[in-house]
Amino acid sequence: MRAGAVGLALAALAVSACASSPASVSYRPAPAILRMPPVDYGPPGDARNPPQGPFQPNAFLRACPGMRVSNAPALDADRWLTDFKPVIVAFGVILASSPVNDVCLSSGFGLRDGRMHNGIDLTSRPPGIVYSGGPGRVVEAKNSSGYGLNVVLDHGNGVYTRYAHLDYFAPGITPGVAIGFGQPVGQMGATGNAQAAHLHYEILSGNIDTIKGSFGLTPHDPLAFPPYEGALQAGY
Ligand SMILES: [Zn+2]
Repeated sequence: MRAGAVGLALAALAVSACASSPASVSYRPAPAILRMPPVDYGPPGDARNPPQGPFQPNAFLRACPGMRVSNAPALDADRWLTDFKPVIVAFGVILASSPVNDVCLSSGFGLRDGRMHNGIDLTSRPPGIVYSGGPGRVVEAKNSSGYGLNVVLDHGNGVYTRYAHLDYFAPGITPGVAIGFGQPVGQMGATGNAQAAHLHYEILSGNIDTIKGSFGLTPHDPLAFPPYEGALQAGY
């Protein structure tokens, strides 16, 4: 997979994590926000290879400057992640570990202030388009307390991704539809328990049941899976 543009192009930013205090930091000017294209479902009846979207993963990811990023992985002196893998393999499923462009990491995965943070927080200004981390099928698209407007995709193999705090859903995102890699899922926002716009991204495993839905799934650190290339070499 071809890596997209390298580096950050973010506007003046009040970064926030799900439950952290915003901090004022400066960025280079950001480009005008992109118009969100509708999802292209392709020919009906075959969801094995739904059309891929316009998303190209960034090759590098940086911890948001000027703020304490809880659970941050190893960083270099300029706060770039030293072991960022833009495309990973999660239980046999190829996924983007950061399905948004020109973002910084505002919170990592794991215990944070005594509470479990089940995903990673990714922030850009202006808030960007959120894309599907891999091909799959929409299983949830609803407003939940805490997560706000959130979408859950089923990627097969018992692997799911969640996109939370969206401002709105992309056109056509509704349970049951198939979606390709890198298709728009929604617009980064601050719905639910969020102090400012960011994407809360989860990679989950298990089986959705009718009682708990996606809340019964097990979360994993999106930044801790093996890279696609390395996994291939290792024979996964
Ligand atoms: Zn979060």
